[in-house]
Amino acid sequence: MPRGQSMLTPRNTTRCPKRKISLATLLSGLAALSVILTITIQLIASYQSKKRALFDTTLTLNHSNAMKMSLTMDSLFKSMRSSLQYTAGIMADNRLMNEASRYEYLELMRKSSNYFNSIVAVDETGIVRTTAPQTVGTTGTPLTTDASKEALSLRKSYTSKPYISASGRLIMFMSEPLFDKDGLYRGMIAGTIYLQENNIIHTIFGSNNMDELGTYFFVVSSDGSLLYHPDKSRIGENVSRNQVVGKTMQGLNGSEQVVSTRGVALLAGYSTVQENNWGIVVVSPIEKVYEQLNRDTRLMLIYMLPPFLLLMLSAIWLARKLARPFVSLADLVSKIGKEKVDLPVPQSHWNREADLLTRTIMLAVADIQKRADQLTQAAVTDPLTGLMNRRTMEDAMNGWIAEQAPFSIIVTDLDKFKSINDTYGHQAGDEVLKHLAAIMKQLVPVVDICCRYGGEEFVILLAGTTVTDAFIVAERIRLTMEKSHEPLGKPVTLSLGIAHYPSHALSAESLFLQADQALYEAKKRGRNQTVIARSYEVSAELNQTESRG
Ligand code: GH3
Ligand code: MG
Ligand code: MG
Repeated sequence: MPRGQSMLTPRNTTRCPKRKISLATLLSGLAALSVILTITIQLIASYQSKKRALFDTTLTLNHSNAMKMSLTMDSLFKSMRSSLQYTAGIMADNRLMNEASRYEYLELMRKSSNYFNSIVAVDETGIVRTTAPQTVGTTGTPLTTDASKEALSLRKSYTSKPYISASGRLIMFMSEPLFDKDGLYRGMIAGTIYLQENNIIHTIFGSNNMDELGTYFFVVSSDGSLLYHPDKSRIGENVSRNQVVGKTMQGLNGSEQVVSTRGVALLAGYSTVQENNWGIVVVSPIEKVYEQLNRDTRLMLIYMLPPFLLLMLSAIWLARKLARPFVSLADLVSKIGKEKVDLPVPQSHWNREADLLTRTIMLAVADIQKRADQLTQAAVTDPLTGLMNRRTMEDAMNGWIAEQAPFSIIVTDLDKFKSINDTYGHQAGDEVLKHLAAIMKQLVPVVDICCRYGGEEFVILLAGTTVTDAFIVAERIRLTMEKSHEPLGKPVTLSLGIAHYPSHALSAESLFLQADQALYEAKKRGRNQTVIARSYEVSAELNQTESRG
């Protein structure tokens, strides 16, 4: 703190003027804010309800698709099973068929139904007897995989889980035991599906195109291994950790939001195939649902914007129109006292408050103006005679001197006025003053200034006149008074002194003094006469000439 400055001393008392907000800006801002808020609220509300609707619809749709697919899969499996059973019935007695016709039969079955990628006939010892197509090349070799050995030993209808075959393929198979007419077990026939190649599942479901939400489906076996997936590389992967897959493994149906084993959020519908406990899961990535939602919201915003912009522009236009009378009234009121305000013709406004305010302020301004005019008039005039007062006279004289405009001054004083007052009373004296004022107004041109200087003394300023012109005017007044019997029934005379600017003096004070001295001279010479400053002789001559005239 600088030395000597007290803690209590304000350091800086000058404050920056705070920027005021205009009514138009305020109203426009309010309108814009309400429009933006409305759009935002509408968008949020619509976004939320659309999101809920889209989630619900997608879940329901995925569930119903999963149900339909599981029914299709169920009947497909039944057909596959009965096709195998039928063939097993025909081929039960090995003796009835030779190798070639057995192959032809199996190949016919494979090609006609397309259910299996390959079909093999195995004898009761586990040796592969026939393979269709022959290209598989296992004929004459023993079964090696656990699943096939289990199927052979179980001697009943069997469906394997997916596994890697001896040839390195990911496969699964369905098998039927072969019993001859004597009831002897003669081996089995097995139809194999190559899970990662074109197979019956691809043929039936693979054409299910993804929709715009990127919906796809996958099939899992009863142990949760992928049997079908659009991403073929994932087939065989165990996804039993997936909550929904876990439910299909329990034979459940339904729909729910789930996170996949790869951490992708999905809307899933799921169903279990009765025949083989496979699970069908139809899923839509939530990310895609949100993309759709955002697209819809953007579209909605584009549709909403033009009417809202129109609404906002109308509101701003209305706000400006509403604020206009207040602005012009403020402008009008601010001019009062500074300049002469020409009141505009009051126009009715469509807004009730603005109309009321305009009318009230117009009336108030008119009243103020009238009072101001009256006060101005009172400030410049003498109340008794209606002539200008001394201050006005001095202002005019100083003005003309400043402009160096020539003029004459006549200073006049009623003769023996004290005795008139004493004789006729003060009121009668006032009447004499008024009478003289009336004569002055009558004889002095309007452009010139007549003023009551004080008491029964008067001053006349004659712009642009010579001393002679002034003398003539003075004499006319004097003679008129001399001849007039008003208001006392007898004449009241007056004495006058004249001075001229710039002939007699250059300042207002000395000019007045010159004229006053001339007046004094007139009184001294016996009153009822006009005397010109410092040329008393000339004025006496002129006086005599005028009197003679
Ligand atoms: P002189 O001829 O020497 O001027 O004599 P006078 O009696 O007129 O003398 P003076 O000018 O000194 O007297 C002024 C008188 O004017 C005194 C006062 O009674 C009177 N007077 C001044 N003002 C007024 C007024 O407003 N009304 C009336 N009725 N009389 C006034
Ligand atoms: Mg006097
Ligand atoms: Mg007098």
